[in-house]
Amino acid sequence: MVGVPMSFPRKGILGYSLFIGVYTIVLLLLTSCLSAANNRSERTVALSAASYTYEGQALVQTEKEAPSDIQAHEADKPPPPEPEPVVANEPGADSDAAVNAGDPLLLPLAVDTKSATPTVTSETYVPLVPPAGKPSSKVSIPVLNYHSVAIDPGNIVVIPPDKLEAQMAYLHDHGYTPLTLEAFIRLLEGDRSEKSPEKPVLLTFDDGYLDNYEEAMPILAKYGFPATLFVSPGMTEQDGYLNWEQIKKMQAGGWDIQPHGMSHPHLPKLSADEQAYEIVEARKQIEERLGTKADIFCYPYGEYNKTTLKLLQHHGFRYAFTIDQGFATNEQSPYLLKRIFVNGEENLNAFAAKLPKLK
Ligand SMILES: [Zn+2]
Repeated sequence: MVGVPMSFPRKGILGYSLFIGVYTIVLLLLTSCLSAANNRSERTVALSAASYTYEGQALVQTEKEAPSDIQAHEADKPPPPEPEPVVANEPGADSDAAVNAGDPLLLPLAVDTKSATPTVTSETYVPLVPPAGKPSSKVSIPVLNYHSVAIDPGNIVVIPPDKLEAQMAYLHDHGYTPLTLEAFIRLLEGDRSEKSPEKPVLLTFDDGYLDNYEEAMPILAKYGFPATLFVSPGMTEQDGYLNWEQIKKMQAGGWDIQPHGMSHPHLPKLSADEQAYEIVEARKQIEERLGTKADIFCYPYGEYNKTTLKLLQHHGFRYAFTIDQGFATNEQSPYLLKRIFVNGEENLNAFAAKLPKLK
């Protein structure tokens, strides 16, 4: 804390003025911090206004991202109360629990499970050592974030099948190549052993809705596009959600199946043990049922805290996806990969504007 004059009378008017000055500065700093925290809690989607270009096989970000006026509403929904899936526009990560990404090259060192408003400081984080063979050039890949594929006017997290169809046709006609999850990781990690596509993109679907099997899979199959499904095993077999038989068919159809928490919880509200169960059990069930690795996590509601990050690291997860808006890059922490939310209400031009353009 700032020192406070011990004796006003002795120091006289000069000391008193100094005290008032320091007090005012501290007040201003506090107000500024509170304001910043409040802004952060609104979680405005920073839909990328950046200009991206392809440079060789790597995508290069040429401008800083700029926030837009579109509000981020967490695109996930709770288990269905009725057969017809209803997607709620839930607010984003709780500002009192989630850790702001901060410096993307940093990984958590210490976990403070008690602090309601964890403060990320230089003491809290240590630099992530880049893996061997990591390219010096920046790799940037758009990761599109879908949820339910159905007709639900007014709900921006649900995309009508005909719009998804038009978007896939756009990707196909404009030379984009949707990647398998492993191909995405290889590209992100700079593996040049195989020819990387000119315009790579990763398609992700959260939550495991039944309509992903009934609507999305046939549309993607038409173009031979792979995708990644983030599923909560505790919600499978319920009305409106996929069952394991369907998930296996999706896997056979080129979909990568990865964990999204057991019960799609608000992770920051759970104890460390509860979080560990949600994260590790979800992976275990997917791996046991499908016989594949499931070590790429996706935060339910986009929410995480330091405990979440440390648990992912401790349990050997390789990457994790947020709902923070932007392209995924090899300069982000592996556990804070960004994605691009696809608004189910927007038109094709708005969709296309989010994608990188060729030089
Ligand atoms: Zn979700």
